[in-house]
Amino acid sequence: MIRTFAELDLDPTLLTALEEMGFDRPTQVQAEAIPQALEGKDILASAPTGTGKTAAFAIPAIQYLEDFPRKKAGPARVLILTPTRELAMQVAEQARQLAKHTHLKVITITGGVQYQEHADDLAATQDIVVATPGRLMEYIEAERFDCRAIEWLILDEADRMLDMGFGPVVDRLSGECRWRKQTLLFSATLEGRGVEGFTADLLKDPAEIEAKSSLRERKKITQWYHRADTAEHKLQLLKHIITNDAERTIIFLKTRERLADLRAQLESAQIPCAWIQGEMPQDRRNNAISRFRDGTVNVLLATDVAARGIDLPDVSHVINYDMPRTADVYLHRIGRTARAGKKGNAISLIEAHDQPMIERVARYTKEAIKERFVEGMRPTHKKAVFKKKKKDTAKGKKPASKAKSSKKKSAKKK
Ligand code: ADP
Ligand code: MG
Repeated sequence: MIRTFAELDLDPTLLTALEEMGFDRPTQVQAEAIPQALEGKDILASAPTGTGKTAAFAIPAIQYLEDFPRKKAGPARVLILTPTRELAMQVAEQARQLAKHTHLKVITITGGVQYQEHADDLAATQDIVVATPGRLMEYIEAERFDCRAIEWLILDEADRMLDMGFGPVVDRLSGECRWRKQTLLFSATLEGRGVEGFTADLLKDPAEIEAKSSLRERKKITQWYHRADTAEHKLQLLKHIITNDAERTIIFLKTRERLADLRAQLESAQIPCAWIQGEMPQDRRNNAISRFRDGTVNVLLATDVAARGIDLPDVSHVINYDMPRTADVYLHRIGRTARAGKKGNAISLIEAHDQPMIERVARYTKEAIKERFVEGMRPTHKKAVFKKKKKDTAKGKKPASKAKSSKKKSAKKK
């Protein structure tokens, strides 16, 4: 397996861009997908969130376009489908960065944009189109977009597209792109929801790639939990963590109602936050995400549905205010921190009934998740039977005054 981008025999323009972007070495999914895609193979790849799937398809696509330059002006040759508009924008942005030193043109076609804005783009020559399936289909039906020039069809977040009911549209788009040479499909997971039947129709004898977030990458996430006696106690712990220790935090909640409650509580405590949830108007989602991304606010509240697949850079802390339903979702969530080489923290705030879940997660990830305490906010309830012996003393009996909590060292290891 290759270890450096240089070994991939990439165009110098790409190598320069990679260097500028601070991509020193390929991630596993990149190291496996790029050479096979460049050999002309279809790709069926699954890799967890945050493992660099975007570059795993964007790099070979750009290299291909450079290897086989177009002879005359014309429509797009690479089509990338993503489930949502903000993902389309993120993917396009990364493709533009990678293609910065080439002449390749990248555009997006998504909902929420007036046709006129797209029309100007479509009139000019483009090389890579990043689109959401529904909107693109409308354009094809109106004969405003022509897929006949598409040579590579790439599906990003295929599992989520299926979840969102885009299966039939993607099938039709695949039919529209029937003259293509290659198809690449990327997904966080290939399990369930009919992904298998779906991929069988789209891909021809694909190279199958299954990357895990490497141990090395995962090790950089420090995981721990705090026990809370009550909902109120949990809120106090949260406020303490975000005001004392955390820099940029995503807080996960299980429902919109829970999210609305917490938002109101943080607002009345004068802690500014942004929030995203499923079924939210696109412009408000984008607005929330950009306020978080540009640092206007440092706390983002999210439900799992809303957060999937969105790349939010530089998150120092992921906080599970509600425990997720499964260990897999837990991994998805904490994958939001410690992206590509950075350190991160994942904190779960649990009540007694969450104890079994945290144990399940620890078994699933094969990692110890230690308990920590905030001085002055120790839990008073006894921990449910856990393998290790408890060291609780009378000290834990009564929550002392909050004033005791010192600035930095407040979250101590047991
Ligand atoms: P995924 O689609 O698998 O969730 P992304 O493609 O969004 O992951 O990448 C996650 C983050 O990692 C992005 O911020 C991206 O810029 C960064 N990244 C990707 N590949 C590398 C690499 N080889 N080296 C350093 N950072 C990388
Ligand atoms: Mg992605």
